[in-house]
Amino acid sequence: MKYELVIGLETHVELNTKSKIFCSCGGHGTGSEPNDCVCPACSGMPGMLPVMNKRVVELAVMAGLMLNCNINRYTTFDKKNYYYPDLPCAYQITQLNHPICTDGCVSLKTSEGTRDIRIKQIHMEEDAGKLVHGGKYSYVDFNRTSVPLIEIVTQPDFRSAEEVVAYLTKLRSMFISGGISECIEGAMRCDVNISVRPEGSAEFGVRSEIKNMSSFEAIDRAIRYEYQRHVNALEFETEELVQETRRFDEVSGKTFAMRNKETEADYRYFPDANLMPIIINDEWLEQIKAAKPDTVDEKAEQYRLAGISEKEIEMLMSNHNISRFLDETVALGCNLKDAAAWILTDCAGILRKDGKTFADLAIAPEKLAAIIKMVDEGKINRGVGKKILVAVVESDVDPVAYCKENGLDQKADTSTIEAVIDKVLAANAQAIEDYKNGKTKAKQALFGACMKELRGTADPALISELLENKLG
Ligand code: ADP
Ligand code: MG
Ligand code: ZN
Repeated sequence: MKYELVIGLETHVELNTKSKIFCSCGGHGTGSEPNDCVCPACSGMPGMLPVMNKRVVELAVMAGLMLNCNINRYTTFDKKNYYYPDLPCAYQITQLNHPICTDGCVSLKTSEGTRDIRIKQIHMEEDAGKLVHGGKYSYVDFNRTSVPLIEIVTQPDFRSAEEVVAYLTKLRSMFISGGISECIEGAMRCDVNISVRPEGSAEFGVRSEIKNMSSFEAIDRAIRYEYQRHVNALEFETEELVQETRRFDEVSGKTFAMRNKETEADYRYFPDANLMPIIINDEWLEQIKAAKPDTVDEKAEQYRLAGISEKEIEMLMSNHNISRFLDETVALGCNLKDAAAWILTDCAGILRKDGKTFADLAIAPEKLAAIIKMVDEGKINRGVGKKILVAVVESDVDPVAYCKENGLDQKADTSTIEAVIDKVLAANAQAIEDYKNGKTKAKQALFGACMKELRGTADPALISELLENKLG
């Protein structure tokens, strides 16, 4: 029998804030020593009260907008009780009853085509501390307690490991480019819920949940292992499947049972009376929308509307440094399609010659914008612009100064051009004769000689006009 893989993800993302979610300790909890980024509140001292960090709400809303969710205007916090040394209060502040975002959707491109994954909800919560096991003792480090997280829960819509990795890759690039999270090592962690069912069946199978995965490669391996384990259990009755929590061991490539799945009742959730409900009114929502950077999908649409081809859009989107470089160049007053051509054709060409890729592009958008501007204003032609770009890529010169120093600016100065034309005409009596006898090609040759003499630094239209006058 063929079995279909079914996966739902719960993804925790550390938010990019200056401070923790309920106190003023530093946002990432990255102290230089264990327990030097803690205060009485986040280390769970009796009597300390949480104070909501407004920025956490804003980033959670932005994430919800990026994932096409409903933003719930009334949102509350709940206490999730469990006793474990990494949790100083013995409860985690999270959202159960009124999460901040619900019912979203994200579309993925995979080798099978486009797939839509439904987002069940996004909620805000605090992170727990870290246990460090060493020798005879275990140590607890509270630097990470109360670091703000959002948890993004999908519906069980994934049907392959490839889709899961595509989703996580998209989320990561969206959140990094949108300033939601830096998504550095360990700042994006997943619980992967897996089950299988006979192909064509409408019911879901018994699921296992692999906890706390952060490497995409390990997630991919874990899914493949777990799929086979479930199939073997159903097909060959190797074991009885039970709903449980498992961990993946990277060395053996296998998953191991950790504990039976807790149910909601095990956590004795109840509303956190120390935190007021948060009301998101229209005005605040509009402010957040206005501040939200465009997502990759929205950006791709803008590029499309500007007439950039699908293939070029894909190139631009493949590396968020490139699309940011383009956006910054455009923000400096350059035309979108034009700037994209400079980046995709000229910059890429220069890099390729040196055996480099876009990832190595390290020039300032100001410099590219300065070159484009000189071309637009007719100070230099495109060929000269490209020459300057090479110098910028290779030795980071200042384009305007470089242009001046090397005499590359077009000498729009009529008398200089006229002098050159006179010189060329004096040396090409035969060509003039040919031209007068109706050979238009002869003018082309004279024009070329003038351009060469001027080393491409004069405005071609002006040369042509002056040459015409003289010949006339
Ligand atoms: P719980 O409350 O037990 O955590 P949820 O309904 O919140 O369960 O689901 C948690 C995650 O598990 C979600 O991402 C969901 O899509 C996924 N999930 C639920 N049922 C299954 C299943 N049978 N197979 C795979 N994933 C599932
Ligand atoms: Mg759950
Ligand atoms: Zn604190």
